[in-house]
Amino acid sequence: MKKFLSMTAGLLAISASSALSQSATSIADTYRPTTDRIIAAALADSAAWNRLATLTDTFGPRLSGSRSLEQAIDWIIAEMKRDGLQNVRGEPVMVPHWVRGDESATLISPRRAALHMIGLGRSVGTTAAGVTAPVMVVESFDELTRRAAEAKGKIVLFDVPFTGYGQTVRYRSGAANAAARVGAVAALIRSVSSFSMQNPHTGAMSYDSTLKVKLPAAALSVEDAMMVHRMIARGEKVAINLKMSARTLPDAPSRNIVAELVGSEKPDEIVVIGGHIDSWDVGQGAMDDGGGVVAAWEAVKLLKRLGLKPKRTIRVVGWTNEENGSRGAAGYRDAHRAEIDKHVMAMESDNGVFKPYGIGITAGEGGREMSAQIASLLKSFGADSTAIGGTDADTSPLSALGVPTMSPLVDGTKYFWYHHSMADTMDKLSPREVAECVALMAVTAYVVADMPSTLPRTPISAN
Ligand SMILES: [Zn+2]
Repeated sequence: MKKFLSMTAGLLAISASSALSQSATSIADTYRPTTDRIIAAALADSAAWNRLATLTDTFGPRLSGSRSLEQAIDWIIAEMKRDGLQNVRGEPVMVPHWVRGDESATLISPRRAALHMIGLGRSVGTTAAGVTAPVMVVESFDELTRRAAEAKGKIVLFDVPFTGYGQTVRYRSGAANAAARVGAVAALIRSVSSFSMQNPHTGAMSYDSTLKVKLPAAALSVEDAMMVHRMIARGEKVAINLKMSARTLPDAPSRNIVAELVGSEKPDEIVVIGGHIDSWDVGQGAMDDGGGVVAAWEAVKLLKRLGLKPKRTIRVVGWTNEENGSRGAAGYRDAHRAEIDKHVMAMESDNGVFKPYGIGITAGEGGREMSAQIASLLKSFGADSTAIGGTDADTSPLSALGVPTMSPLVDGTKYFWYHHSMADTMDKLSPREVAECVALMAVTAYVVADMPSTLPRTPISAN
């Protein structure tokens, strides 16, 4: 997951008149009887949680290029057809094919121990013997720059405390480049995580194409990174052997999943809801992001079951390859360029299907006021807040072309404990909270697809 915030759009929306227009006020009044029915039905059972458990238990993690991802896509398409959704299809996208292989980080001195590690996605591998070198620990890029002279021939460990995903993830993406610039031989980071039980977290890194050297890069568990740091602080000489057989194979075929509830009056106008079906190759990809795909799917299935047919089309999209390439997001945009102007809203759930508390929005002037009307319909389960910022990784290319975006606001307390690690598994998710996410997506999609006016489009210049 990556969270995109469009600050300029936010300022525009905040500066909009705070007085609610008559038509905006009536959104809530008009739709409450119907949306109360939707909410009651969504919260009546554990259908979404059960479906997500079946998906993740059956196929496991779903990294781009893997058989398990394509088998999961086949299964979802077949199940969506069985559910009676319309225009169900896979839209071809070529995706990167990175393979982890065997890997290890072994503490050689001051004592021998297997460290809890995981290679970072897209990293190169090492030779079979691995890289063995003394370790230098730093707490920031600035510190490495100041102490650059010490780094030559070392493994650089960035032991950076988690101060927020956006802030700390810079070390995951940039550690290998920073270490290469000062002559180091490998890069390690403290896992980008707010809590740890020896579960190291992977995630995408990238190489600066202007650098000649590509260093292998891996994360240590929070516990092991802090232990190494303590050893060095005590003046002990720390050396590590890092072995990684990671490699990048030729691009592989994958698909975005598309399914629809076709609109009754304006079928060419489209509301997109979805999540990304790919995941990292560890754990089950339950919250990142099987839950987003299943919540959107169940939301539309629910509307169909209730016999609700909004004026506009609601389209479920399961994007492929969010984690290590975002080719699905770009592929969807390119395949649907001719109808981008007909996309009236796009919502991705990619922050975990945890307890929702409202709706984030990126739109033009007055959009937040409209989203507040919609969110007020979710008050019965506490999801009536709004915030500026509705764009997630897969909706970002649509936002850049003016499509208003929304994002479920969910309790983010535990997402970064689990995501991109072995601990992203079903048991962490609550059936009730997943059902509330379904209710939020179903109500939001239904109202946006049926209401008389559309959300103000996002200024292109704001992206
Ligand atoms: Zn994600």
